[in-house]
Amino acid sequence: MNTIFANYLQRIREGCTELLVPKASLEEKVPPHYPAFFNPLAKLNRDISIYLYKAFLLEKEYSEEITFADALAGIGSRGLRVAVEIPRVSQIFINDINESAISISRETAALNSITEKCIFSTMDVCEFLISHNSNPTNKRFSIIDLDPFGSPAPFIDCILRSIQNEGLISITATDTAVLSGKYQKTCLRKYYGVSLNTVYSNETAIRLLLSSIALTAARLGISISPIFVHSNRHYLRVYIKVFFSKTLSNKIFSNIGLIEHCFKCRNRQTITSLTSSNLCKICDSKTNIAGQLWIGNFYDKKLISLITQHFVEDRSEKGQLKQIHKIFTTCLDELDDIPYYFSIDEISSILKTTPMKLSHIIEKLSLSGFRASKTSLNPAGFKTNASIVDILSIINN
Ligand SMILES: [Zn+2]
Repeated sequence: MNTIFANYLQRIREGCTELLVPKASLEEKVPPHYPAFFNPLAKLNRDISIYLYKAFLLEKEYSEEITFADALAGIGSRGLRVAVEIPRVSQIFINDINESAISISRETAALNSITEKCIFSTMDVCEFLISHNSNPTNKRFSIIDLDPFGSPAPFIDCILRSIQNEGLISITATDTAVLSGKYQKTCLRKYYGVSLNTVYSNETAIRLLLSSIALTAARLGISISPIFVHSNRHYLRVYIKVFFSKTLSNKIFSNIGLIEHCFKCRNRQTITSLTSSNLCKICDSKTNIAGQLWIGNFYDKKLISLITQHFVEDRSEKGQLKQIHKIFTTCLDELDDIPYYFSIDEISSILKTTPMKLSHIIEKLSLSGFRASKTSLNPAGFKTNASIVDILSIINN
């Protein structure tokens, strides 16, 4: 290794890519920021993104030049993996204001023989993105990834001003406490809506992030179409296609709404505007409101089915590969037009019984004429258009 950080680094393999990563990030519980930040636990997140970028590019004409921007790259693990594992991408821009991180990234590019297709920079993230705003020599990007520490809210405008028409943006948020109802005022300021501390708060968090992006995009005459979302305890991620269309962005409010939640009887429903009463239609208690948030679909099931076909051909899957396959397969059947879910633990605590198997609940609801599915956002969650009264009565019978 030529880098001055050689003593701090270790070579690991992730996907088909050799990565130079800070040794301490593999040894310590909280990865350090010196010489650069790397989170080994985000491998699942990076693996999923490779599948999605590949599937997204299947829709593109082969003659089209594809560029990828890793805007807050750290040591460049995502961008470098794209460079190695997705040959269809011809240029990868790897930017981070931390010069040490970019120095390590350059070394990793050389190790993988991909230096020629990588362009490195150490700019402020918005300065970097805006420098690609329709300038003939610095064209807008086909795909942009943004993976900040904390909230992506300060960067949304810049991303939307540097993505191509029909491009793809993938965005991470790690301020899950804000998005899940712990800091209401901060959430309203950053995401134009409030969250509630419910069993489905990770879905509310995703939908708040989507609506804040959609509203910012609409202001710029851009319409968004989410293709995939996922979350874990520490982060959530959204993948969104963008379309430059004032006509489509005029329709944005058909996808924005509210969730009315009753903490007493646990009923929940989607509403499109605030009523004067805010009383639960089942138990007459005062309800709480989450939103405004995205109430439209957030999976492109056609695109996800292309990904799952790949898994059918791959019979050797185990461990994390099996986990990724399960996530994508669950999405295919998920009722993603319903913006909340129930959990089996929640239902069993109301009924004071042991939790019923998830598949049995879904079967019982379906046999009673309701729509019902699993959700990829919680292994113990289920979605349904049945009210809490219907759910409890059907499960009790
Ligand atoms: Zn109620």
